[in-house]
Amino acid sequence: MQYEESFDVIVVGGGHAGTEAAAAAARMGANTLLLTHNVDTLGQMSCNPAIGGIGKGHLVKEIDALGGIMGTAADHAGIQFRTLNASKGPAVRATRAQADRQLYRQAVRTRLENQPNLRIFQQACDDLLLDGDTVVGVVTQTGLKFRAKTVVLTVGTFLNGLIHIGMDNYKGGRAGDPPSITLANHLRELPLRTDRLKTGTPPRIDANSVDFSVMQVQPGDNPTPVFSFIGNREDHPQQIPCYITHTNEKTHEVIRKNLDRSPMYAGVIEGIGPRYCPSIEDKITRFADKTSHQIFVEPEGLTSTELYPNGISTSLPFDVQLAIVRSIKGFEQAHIMRPGYAIEYDYFDPRDLKINMENKCLHNLFFAGQINGTTGYEEAGAQGLLAGLNAALRAFDKEAWSPRRDQAYLGVMMDDLSTLGTQEPYRMFTSRAEYRLLLREDNADIRLTEEGRNLGLVDDHRWAMFCDKMERISQESQRLRTNWISPAHDAAPALNELLKTPLSREHNLEELLRRPEVNYTSLMAVDGIGPGIDHEQAAEQVEIQIKYAGYIERQKDEIQKHLRNEHTRLPLDLDYGEVPGLSHEVIAKLNQARPETLGMASRISGVTPAAISILLVHLKKRG
Ligand code: FAD
Repeated sequence: MQYEESFDVIVVGGGHAGTEAAAAAARMGANTLLLTHNVDTLGQMSCNPAIGGIGKGHLVKEIDALGGIMGTAADHAGIQFRTLNASKGPAVRATRAQADRQLYRQAVRTRLENQPNLRIFQQACDDLLLDGDTVVGVVTQTGLKFRAKTVVLTVGTFLNGLIHIGMDNYKGGRAGDPPSITLANHLRELPLRTDRLKTGTPPRIDANSVDFSVMQVQPGDNPTPVFSFIGNREDHPQQIPCYITHTNEKTHEVIRKNLDRSPMYAGVIEGIGPRYCPSIEDKITRFADKTSHQIFVEPEGLTSTELYPNGISTSLPFDVQLAIVRSIKGFEQAHIMRPGYAIEYDYFDPRDLKINMENKCLHNLFFAGQINGTTGYEEAGAQGLLAGLNAALRAFDKEAWSPRRDQAYLGVMMDDLSTLGTQEPYRMFTSRAEYRLLLREDNADIRLTEEGRNLGLVDDHRWAMFCDKMERISQESQRLRTNWISPAHDAAPALNELLKTPLSREHNLEELLRRPEVNYTSLMAVDGIGPGIDHEQAAEQVEIQIKYAGYIERQKDEIQKHLRNEHTRLPLDLDYGEVPGLSHEVIAKLNQARPETLGMASRISGVTPAAISILLVHLKKRG
């Protein structure tokens, strides 16, 4: 049967990529359908109940700056908030929230159900509808056909998903959910490069069986950080602490003795796992000299007794999991509620995607999330938003949009994926960005919200709040620049108590704030200078912009130099074999990767600066 209505955008999958994709397309006015296995698992966290962290928090802020869901959902579901790297520079500071799993799902669902232009439908998608090499819709498990101008696939770990616990394995999308076998088999018939990856999760433990008194308490920050630029602390539910315990020699002994029963070490698992989220068996093998590893004991919610022991992801058999858990301080009597497991799944080579996330071979088909070889909710959500917005742009016959590497972590990620691809699950780190000082969490809205507004992603409420904040920053910066304090000023004695060297001449407030021993709060506390602005985000921005002005300017100059060639376009049909002077290796790599710009070409390993110069000359000759 053919469904009566035709859509602009169909999003398949209601995980983190799918929910952001559907919401973004709908916000832009596209008539959108979100087709997913189960409406009750919209926004489900498959693994760790936490949002953010280093690099990942930056992505959440960018999603939020573009009007996305993740930041506000995390604010409404976060039961412990922390700023990581708080003592370091603003570029690497990152927000992390432990989330109540149910509250998070609820927050996502509520936002989707109240999103105009969006319909939700529960059923498995089994195939794509194609007209030549153009995708025109999807077919569900029961043969229902939905037509659309564009389709976004966000099916996560579900394609040919195979769950391993010890030597036992069974098909599944994640524990408790069915795999996508038919869709995976149909996709494998298409001219797309595919391979296997794997990821894993720890056993979950019943808090009623745990002795917290022997563990270290880890409280959240007070005042609590806020994720969304339009959020506030009052959005947060009750806050509760996490705990810390450790593995020990006994734990490691249990694991070493049973390594031959690990599907990974016995060679049963073919897929490569996430390097930065290794299983406990991986950790004790790779770091054999370490006698202990830290475990963060994280509550899964306010109304659940389930605990997530972060740090002991494993696919060892259940009896070994139990022995591992019970060897750990505080877990001696622990009851496992859900066993840990590893999952292998199909992913598609992201080098087959354009930078706007559209497939290079099949028109109007977009991929986002774990299907592209990434790992993590934030990576998935950010890609989903970009794919959803580009699918909508395509449906409206408008030009594609994606942020540059110097504009957003989202730009860094998509450039990395589409030019370099990935052989292991890709996760975001601040070290992946060359312009870290500009790509901070705190200025994600300044980098992206205006662009989001122009694209139709940002609603009136967010836009008004953003404009108000920008106005306050501008006024306060102006005040600090134009207010001068001389040694004879009434405020000078109190000010001198703050300064390492007392005032010897007149200074404006901007110069004073630039001194290392001064911050905005301490300066505004001086009688006759403060109280300053009553707007936390704007005050933080004023301080960072002034204190780091020199570094920021230098980085902007670097970007300008770099941009000259970065965006020079390379024709997708260019036969690199016909470019005189390129080595066989470079020709093969460029013909395979088909980069869209010179900048992307330059980041392919083996493509030398000399090869880039040859390409530049060739492009000029082609005219
Ligand atoms: P998912 O969240 O997997 O969502 C996919 C959605 O698509 C689901 O709603 C599903 O029901 C739906 N779907 C699938 N097939 C179909 C179909 N044919 N028709 C309709 N709907 C369909 N991330 C980390 O950062 N660190 C970790 O250590 C980590 N460990 C993990 C361990 C496990 C066991 C799993 C399963 C995941 C782990 N993750 C981890 C990954 C994290 O869960 C994903 O990166 C993230 O959820 C990906 O989001 P997504 O939207 O791409 O896919």
